[in-house]
Amino acid sequence: MKLDIRNIDKSDLDQFIVDLGLPKFKSNQIWEWVWKKSKTDFSEMRNLPKDLIKTLDKNFVFHPVTVDKIQKSSDGTIKSRLKLYDDHLVESVLIPVVKDNRYTACVSSQVGCSLNCSFCATGKMKRMRNLGPAEIYDQVVLVNKQVKEHFGHHLTNIVFMGMGEPLLNYKNLLTGINYICSDAGLGMSPKRITVSTVGIAKMIKKLADDEVKFNLALSLHAATDEKRSQIMPINDQNDLSTLMEALNYFYEKTKNRISYEYISFKGFNDTLEDAANLYQLTKHFPVKINIIEYNPIDGVNFEKSLSVSIDNFAKYLKKKGVMVTVRRSRGKDIDAACGQLANKG
Ligand code: SF4
Repeated sequence: MKLDIRNIDKSDLDQFIVDLGLPKFKSNQIWEWVWKKSKTDFSEMRNLPKDLIKTLDKNFVFHPVTVDKIQKSSDGTIKSRLKLYDDHLVESVLIPVVKDNRYTACVSSQVGCSLNCSFCATGKMKRMRNLGPAEIYDQVVLVNKQVKEHFGHHLTNIVFMGMGEPLLNYKNLLTGINYICSDAGLGMSPKRITVSTVGIAKMIKKLADDEVKFNLALSLHAATDEKRSQIMPINDQNDLSTLMEALNYFYEKTKNRISYEYISFKGFNDTLEDAANLYQLTKHFPVKINIIEYNPIDGVNFEKSLSVSIDNFAKYLKKKGVMVTVRRSRGKDIDAACGQLANKG
């Protein structure tokens, strides 16, 4: 069976080229076409001899993601439904903030998700499989193209907040990010990348041990175990004290400020008592708290908090000296907002 060339290491390609009796720089040329130039057809690799192109075709394939459907929101957000080589679908979102020259790709890491958070549309789908490094990379290349086409700019930020739990696809996530950041790939700074997790304590510690340079965000959404377990089953195996210990470990090793995502649900987690609990939980090392407006999804009973509740909640934390932002949702009209990705339509 032919191998996907983007699933092999550079050293394997080097060996393949040397075994053909060719100089090693040929391997570098191929690698550049494959990653930096994102070509997915050997015949387009213009500086390779015909014989070599034939040999590559005989031994390798490409499994690029292709665009299945594009939806544009009235606020400029663009959601892309992408088809994988085995016909599975995932979604990526471009979130433009033109006035700040900020163009963010929200990227998926798995087809579906196994974690079943009660407020999330993806959690209603079964987890089908992990995305490979090239499938992660392709999403970023695609959104980068959309930024250029629609806004004449380039991608400035990447968040892993699409479908799936990134830390349950650890190896492919890190390999994909490595290509996104390396000079052989897109050359983006890891400081522009945020990986968001629902909190798998042992993988958070592994990130620290692996000395990753990207940013980490925790989808927290409730500040007591009792409430968090009601909306996020993962909390039963990774309770808040275990998570805080892992995050503290991450902070001590990387000195990177951690972000918390906190979706505000009316009457569930948006009172001042909830804000006080959140402060007590998160005061031990420097953090940033993003309060996110809830986006209704079918079959879920939560409602969006009143604006005044969100404002009071944020004010309480700010008074305590916490760095807080309130994120109003983007792309709601095309189901592209936080928690809404589910391959609809
Ligand atoms: S919020 Fe994230 S981890 Fe939870 S079900 Fe949705 S995709 Fe999975």
